[in-house]
Amino acid sequence: MLADKDRIFTNLYGMHDRSLKGAQARGHWDGTAAIIKRGRDKIIDDMKASGLRGRGGAGFPTGLKWSFMPKESDGRPSYLVVNADESEPGTCKDREIMRHDPHTLIEGCLIASFAMNANACYIYIRGEYIREKEALQAAIDECYEAGLVGPNAAKSGWDFDIYLHHGAGAYICGEETALLESLEGKKGMPRMKPPFPAGAGLYGCPTTVNNVESIAVVPTILRRGGDWFSSFGRPNNAGTKLFAISGHVNNPCVVEEAMSIPFKELIDRHCGGIRGGWSNLKAVIPGGSSVPMLPGEMMEKDCIMDFDWLREQRSGLGTAAVIVMDQNTDIIKAIWRLSKFYKHESCGQCTPCREGTGWMMRVMDRLVTGDAEVEEIDMLLDVTKQVEGHTICALGDAAAWPIQGLVRHFRDEIEDRIKHKRTGRVSAVAAQ
Ligand code: SF4
Repeated sequence: MLADKDRIFTNLYGMHDRSLKGAQARGHWDGTAAIIKRGRDKIIDDMKASGLRGRGGAGFPTGLKWSFMPKESDGRPSYLVVNADESEPGTCKDREIMRHDPHTLIEGCLIASFAMNANACYIYIRGEYIREKEALQAAIDECYEAGLVGPNAAKSGWDFDIYLHHGAGAYICGEETALLESLEGKKGMPRMKPPFPAGAGLYGCPTTVNNVESIAVVPTILRRGGDWFSSFGRPNNAGTKLFAISGHVNNPCVVEEAMSIPFKELIDRHCGGIRGGWSNLKAVIPGGSSVPMLPGEMMEKDCIMDFDWLREQRSGLGTAAVIVMDQNTDIIKAIWRLSKFYKHESCGQCTPCREGTGWMMRVMDRLVTGDAEVEEIDMLLDVTKQVEGHTICALGDAAAWPIQGLVRHFRDEIEDRIKHKRTGRVSAVAAQ
């Protein structure tokens, strides 16, 4: 188990003082100027050495991403944009940072911006996060007053401004290029890539978009060293990680743990076990609603919670938002609900997603009640394949994968329901 001394987030549950004074007492904003004075190359090298992979879902190496930013300006400014949109169903980890430990994020913004030659940083926060926005803005104001941001930020010699922008509550604005469009005051519609944001991002200028957690862990990594961070987890899956566990566990929670922790240990230690015991576990969505679910037995016996293990099982760590479902769950209906969500949130820009999410949802409607033909399961699978990989942004994949996971692992249950409907009997699960 991760020892308290190795936790980066020391006020995750809001039990301590979240003000600047409290944050400083817990070691934040300590030696920030000295870190900056190490210089850009050293900071980026240290981040690479830490093995940190982006915490927003894609898991791209953070130090490498930073290194894509131009070293010298061609006259255009560079920007850091922090993605605080956190709209993926099941995901609720960044909000704990913003409302209880906001100084980890602000200090990280300063250091990361310096490393990328950016004098300005924008945090794009989810529309529904009202209290989180207030807490974060209060912390930013404190930092301006204390001279930790602004001209000669934290006496580092670097001028730095930080702006908090409140979204309007659209899931798609969590996609990095849609986020940039929205920040520019336009409709939040994803852009075609390339160009990638590091070449032409916000206002056509070099931009890096990072997740809240990815930035908030930076100051501690640089204070304690890349080796310390990479000592947790398996190779290529380094560090500590916030896991947000919801659903049918006895004690749903957000907790910081070492990467690569076995799923069973994570649930037993922090969540008080599965509701009704381990034999009652049916399935788990391990990384936020867009990754395919895995059967309970596999999760209990073998699962290692990291990028590589979950990818090998054709699922993913995503945002590490773990949704646990017990035997009482109508698994078909659960995935139908996600289909409905993605259909609702599609921006409508590309045909496979705009039409496909609706098709998928309508077939799922009928699978829930059993009013379908068994052949339609393959037809549905075929539609998911036509959507997957054929869209501008990853929402198309996100809509397709949960259905693929359902069919892969619970096909029998779908067929059962259709057959029982035919014979006039409704299966026990469908009856609930
Ligand atoms: Fe919009 Fe969907 Fe296309 Fe993404 S995949 S750009 S959400 S229509």
